[in-house]
Amino acid sequence: MARYTEAVCRQCRREGEKLFLKGPKCYSEKCAMNVRPFAPGQHGKGRKKSSEYGIQLRAKQRARRIYGVLETQFRNYFAEAERRPGQTGTNLLQLLETRLDNVVYRCGFALSRPEARQLVLHGHFTVNGKKVNIPSYALKAGDEVAIASRSLEKEKIKAILEATATHPAPKWIDLNKDARAAKVISIPTREEIDIPVDEQLIVELYSK
Ligand code: SF4
Repeated sequence: MARYTEAVCRQCRREGEKLFLKGPKCYSEKCAMNVRPFAPGQHGKGRKKSSEYGIQLRAKQRARRIYGVLETQFRNYFAEAERRPGQTGTNLLQLLETRLDNVVYRCGFALSRPEARQLVLHGHFTVNGKKVNIPSYALKAGDEVAIASRSLEKEKIKAILEATATHPAPKWIDLNKDARAAKVISIPTREEIDIPVDEQLIVELYSK
């Protein structure tokens, strides 16, 4: 399965902000955005004036990197967002936000989205009682996500749950920490999606 091969922290440095792709390291002094807070590469420290296209491109790349989605898949999400009624930009973010790997991360069942993706691929979660190992699986309102019972015994899962014990879930998810399960109450509104991206710039980019 295709996925990112670029060094993870370089992605944050390229975007000029923390994308929180590495779990605990992102909150430590060792975060590359603390150590080298400039773009990677020979000219990374140089001052760059961005064109309109450059600003739109950065918005798209930032969203893509936050959710760990490749270009083709991102375009497919955009096409689907355009087909749906309502605002394309909001539809796009809703499609990304309701991916299974993102919901796993939002519930505190993983320390980062890349880790959530990995855990889903390894079959540690169920949706409505059935094992699902597709990170992009699209959840709907009413769907229930749970940690597979045999996975609850894994040391890695126990450590994650301990680290996220006080981690609050967003309002659109009903998290039952005792049951290690969560229910999607509703599709999140734009206000409930706290990612630092101006989705209108993405719409403008793809509308050229
Ligand atoms: Fe980004 Fe986390 Fe790496 Fe910091 S440690 S640069 S936030 S991925």
